[in-house]
Amino acid sequence: MSIVLEVSDRDRAPNQTIEGWLTRTHPEVLERAVAARAAGRLLDLTAPLPAAGGLEIVEFSDEQGREVYDHSTSHLMAQAVTSLLPNAKLAIGPAIAEGFYYDFDSVETFTPERLEEIEATMRELIGRDLPIERVEMPRAQAIEMYRDANQPYKVELLEEIPDGTVSLYRQGDFVDLCRGPHLPRTGRIGAFKLLSVAGAYWRGDEKRPMLQRIYGIAFPTQGQLDEFLRLREQAALRDHRRLGRELDLYSVPEELGGGLVLWHPKGALVRYLIEEFWRREHLKRGYQLVFTPHIARARLWEISGHLSFYKDSMYGPLTIEDEEYRIKPMNCPFHVLIYKSRLRSYRDLPIRYCELGTVYRYERSGVLHGLLRVRGFTQDDAHIICTPEQIGEEVKQALEFTLFMMNAFGYQDFEVDLSVRGEADHAKYMGTDDEWGIAERSLTEALESRGVAYKRAPGEAVFYGPKIDIKLRDSMRRVWQGPTIQFDFNLTSRFNMEYVGADGARHTPLMVHRALLGSIERFMGGLVEHYGGAFPTWLAPVQAMVVPITDRQHDYAQQVKRRLEEEGLRAEADLRNESMRLKIREAQLQKIPYMLVVGDREQASETVAVRARAGGDQGAQALDQFIEAVKAEVASRGQA
Ligand SMILES: [Zn+2]
Ligand SMILES: [Zn+2]
Repeated sequence: MSIVLEVSDRDRAPNQTIEGWLTRTHPEVLERAVAARAAGRLLDLTAPLPAAGGLEIVEFSDEQGREVYDHSTSHLMAQAVTSLLPNAKLAIGPAIAEGFYYDFDSVETFTPERLEEIEATMRELIGRDLPIERVEMPRAQAIEMYRDANQPYKVELLEEIPDGTVSLYRQGDFVDLCRGPHLPRTGRIGAFKLLSVAGAYWRGDEKRPMLQRIYGIAFPTQGQLDEFLRLREQAALRDHRRLGRELDLYSVPEELGGGLVLWHPKGALVRYLIEEFWRREHLKRGYQLVFTPHIARARLWEISGHLSFYKDSMYGPLTIEDEEYRIKPMNCPFHVLIYKSRLRSYRDLPIRYCELGTVYRYERSGVLHGLLRVRGFTQDDAHIICTPEQIGEEVKQALEFTLFMMNAFGYQDFEVDLSVRGEADHAKYMGTDDEWGIAERSLTEALESRGVAYKRAPGEAVFYGPKIDIKLRDSMRRVWQGPTIQFDFNLTSRFNMEYVGADGARHTPLMVHRALLGSIERFMGGLVEHYGGAFPTWLAPVQAMVVPITDRQHDYAQQVKRRLEEEGLRAEADLRNESMRLKIREAQLQKIPYMLVVGDREQASETVAVRARAGGDQGAQALDQFIEAVKAEVASRGQA
């Protein structure tokens, strides 16, 4: 909750700044204030106190406040760099989603030692508590100033600004071209850290000079910074690209092309298990499996509208017998054609088609990221087609199914958005008021009947229908895009979908797109990080590793492995000529749920000494007993 203070003309002194006014009237707020907002504009605390009315205090906990804070720290870093390296040329230094960066053109490489020196200088500048002042000057004067200072990047930026007057921020002898706002003094910056250095082309253009980008982050307290660094370290260890390599699950090799995934045997096995579970649960709930091709005539994409509103994301065209084809970015039109392959009656409905359909969409190479942003991926797609009378129940079931599925993969914490039409602009949406009414009601009722907390977001719906978006919170408290339940009034009308009602007349059905996992690739990437690579037993590619103590037990080790396999479990035996300790260590690094150590004693008594990945040494167990326990664990997916 942000603080809004009332400014009245009574308590205004002449030439007063916001900071001066706060000092006098609300000293307790001043400490927390990073900037202020009045009449929708973000202001420096050093700005003149605005006219009477509401003055919102922007704090660090406010996203924009955090940006002001980080951005002020980026200026501080640039000030330190120029004081250490007077010849360094400054490019830009914005706040980003996590922290800030600044790009420098310098002959000297920023080594870790150099970063420490920069940090020390920054601390010194914080200690001097320099005022940060906004200065406005004619653009021509600023250009001249930066020319004299031999700062060509700033000159280039200035030459592109259309305004006659520009703003700069000064702290001590350092001045930077900037729109602001900023913290009022360098002493307001609490704890910060310079995180890394990377190369970056000026303006992202590989024909322009390569600059050095220093990343950093700042927080009001050391405790907050420490917590951030702890989570960052943990996240780096869990990075799905790193774990994908270490556990030999998948790769996204350069030679193959950007954003295209190779599933290695172990990753493919996990994927198979996820998909089998997915199919089985769909069949249980009255869905019908379908398969559809990867390409279709351009004509189909014209009818569906994709070639007008989605063209930039589509690959192709390719030509077959003089006819243009496109690679599919979505499965929906294919499912519509299956629906339309015969005349449907209300008695046939609801129809629920589902498919693990691989699609291809263009993404810029700059945004590709491991499995999370790719160019080819498999959607877990479903389309529910039904009558208005059925839709309430269908949406409820779909939501129930969604929550069941997320639970199965260990996600228990969600954020739910209900995206609906804006108040006044109904003309830009497809579908009738009636359809929107029914759709919104069914989505709301489903959420409420299940007691799911949600945020209603007016104006956030896409033009063809309202939707529920579910975001997942993972084990490191990060938020991932999750399932969607999306109405579509566009395709039903573009394809002229119909059914014969009880009244004998033709009606347009309602259609809902529904994805539980989103894309298998992104879901897998998220899942690997969520579990830190330690898949629960039902998903682990290898569930048990048999480790003989000496080669006398090799035969018994292989017998154990075969027994496990016969029982439908996934096991390996490590018969290498290596020490038992090393074998156990490696199995642990592979995050295998169970290690079964076998020596003479185990062989004689047909037992195994069980070491669990979680929980350590469990002692000797009869082989049959171990098998039954693991089978039960797999059947319950670890949720018994
Ligand atoms: Zn700035
Ligand atoms: Zn669809």
